[in-house]
Amino acid sequence: MVLAVKNATLFDGSGAPPYGPTTVIVEGDRIASVGPSAEVQIPENCEILDAAGKFLMPGLIDSHVHITGSGDPNRLKALKELVPHQAIRAALNARATLEAGFTAIRDAGAGFLVDVALKQAINEGLVPGPRMQVACRGLSITGGHGDTRNGWPPEVEFKGRYVVDSPDEARRAAREQLRDGADHIKLHATGGVMSEGDVPTARGLTIDEMRAAIEEAHNVGKKAMAHAQGSTGIKNAILAGVSSIEHGFYLTDEIIELMLKKDVFLVPTLAAVHHIVEKGTEAGIPEYGVRKAKEAQKAHLESFAKAYKAGVKIAMGTDAATPFNYHGKNALELELMVKAGMKPMDALLAATKMGAELMGWGDRMGQVKPGYWADLILVDGNPLEDIRVLQDVSRIKVVMKAGKIEVRRQ
Ligand SMILES: [Zn+2]
Repeated sequence: MVLAVKNATLFDGSGAPPYGPTTVIVEGDRIASVGPSAEVQIPENCEILDAAGKFLMPGLIDSHVHITGSGDPNRLKALKELVPHQAIRAALNARATLEAGFTAIRDAGAGFLVDVALKQAINEGLVPGPRMQVACRGLSITGGHGDTRNGWPPEVEFKGRYVVDSPDEARRAAREQLRDGADHIKLHATGGVMSEGDVPTARGLTIDEMRAAIEEAHNVGKKAMAHAQGSTGIKNAILAGVSSIEHGFYLTDEIIELMLKKDVFLVPTLAAVHHIVEKGTEAGIPEYGVRKAKEAQKAHLESFAKAYKAGVKIAMGTDAATPFNYHGKNALELELMVKAGMKPMDALLAATKMGAELMGWGDRMGQVKPGYWADLILVDGNPLEDIRVLQDVSRIKVVMKAGKIEVRRQ
């Protein structure tokens, strides 16, 4: 199957400003050629998409979602759900994500292997959805952010998380996740916002616990990500060897130096805090969550701006499924990053090239280049002039994944 997208204004994800009119030829699941429309030969018998006046760019990448979650502020609701119910919702979330122009996601933790099953179903073509990398269950200390008994009724046996309290337990837990299909290991290096009994500044897993888990991931060529908000835990996670700091509320100069030196990404997830602060307790979010989010927001935005200015690699992630942070609304994060001081060009790169690099797919995804996966979106509007156009799905005219048009809106 050969397809030509002709006369587009192309943002190719390399960091170059958009140029056009450009024609992109897609053969099978790959991009075959890219060039000026006046020069590129369109093969005979090929499907042609006229993209004149439209903005063509790599499919968007969200580097931090929880695809099984709902965004409902009442977390206890999830306790009454059957596992198949979660799976059905995850499939709908995946479709909404793809329809919003996101052709790849990095999941940051799910229970019951729903993430693994969904990824398989998408890859088989059973249900529509983005490319996925999954974590299975995140690792946490007893009473930490990832311990579901933290603020949940004691009788609840919820298998979404994994509690470990020694390096040996962390090693075993990591091995189990890898055996079960994890593409990366999720570690809880600090407390968090939506867990009742801890604070974001408290450290979670120790360096030695994280090191043991990360060694198992590296042993099979995989990476680890850390939920890390307070400075002590962030530093521990970096020293232990994680590839990314998720959230990163309290980044010190020393931490930023370390991130640069060790090539660690920041995935800021500004949307998670934004929704909790904006909606508040009136909308049903627990008081402790609203209080902790409000306390952290200023430092979080300052940390983000400081890391960006220093040149820390930033990948866009939303933490979709936190309260009111809905799947399919992921592009709000781009606006929040721009409002916090990022250039629109860098925000687009955070959601394309940088996300691909973090996922280890920088040599095949996130840019419009010959040989790369044909994951493309065609937008009516220029997100470099107004980043918010990506939030209006009616303006995302075409979503292509692996050379297949998954969404077409006229
Ligand atoms: Zn998360």
